[in-house]
Amino acid sequence: MNIILFGPPGAGKGTQAKRLEKSRNLIQLSTGDMLRAAVKAGTEYGKKAKDVMEKGELVTDEIVINIISDRLDEADVKAAPGVIFDGFPRTVAQAEELDKMLDSKGMKLDGVVVLDVDDEALVERITGRYTCAKCGKGYHDTFEKPAREGVCDECGGTEFTRRADDNEETVRSRLSAYHAQTSPLIDYYESKGIVKKVDGMAAIDDVTRQIEEVLDSLA
Ligand code: AMP
Repeated sequence: MNIILFGPPGAGKGTQAKRLEKSRNLIQLSTGDMLRAAVKAGTEYGKKAKDVMEKGELVTDEIVINIISDRLDEADVKAAPGVIFDGFPRTVAQAEELDKMLDSKGMKLDGVVVLDVDDEALVERITGRYTCAKCGKGYHDTFEKPAREGVCDECGGTEFTRRADDNEETVRSRLSAYHAQTSPLIDYYESKGIVKKVDGMAAIDDVTRQIEEVLDSLA
């Protein structure tokens, strides 16, 4: 089963994708994570993407399409029961390319799960979030603190990181990019009849439950 987890930055796509990896053995394909890894490694794509990402704008369609296409050909993805696209596609051109790409690889999209969230909540959600540097578990200054301050619940790690683009100014441009370039994709997928909306403002566990129900209905 291949799905897109869709929604603005801060909607909870990454958190929910990680849960679905565990519950369904699906593989999360986050173009944001892949681009951050490319920036860190200093690859050609990473060099091109760095400044654009820091400004909260979108990197070129060509770059993300290439990294997704390459990733889909890797052995672990081929062997998995399906993938979760997270943060991709983000433009109509990317969605059209994705259709072609899946077709040529003998794959298909089963559903687009839209996390419906209130715009006002997003800035607070994003600017307060951080992750364990060792295992990647996500936390939030207000909404999800570790049980013992400064110690990761999952792995005991004591170092935490924040994304360079999770500051208020960049978040505002990321939200503008979402509304201008990405939200029109909902109509694109509505026309294919594969959109399923869930209430992304609910508690994290409740959102997971809603998504699991959607996936059960698609299976
Ligand atoms: P994310 O982790 O999904 O919030 O993405 C972080 C940043 O990476 C975005 O603000 C964009 O600059 C870039 N990015 C990630 N995915 C895409 C995409 N599909 N198309 C264009 N830019 C992307």
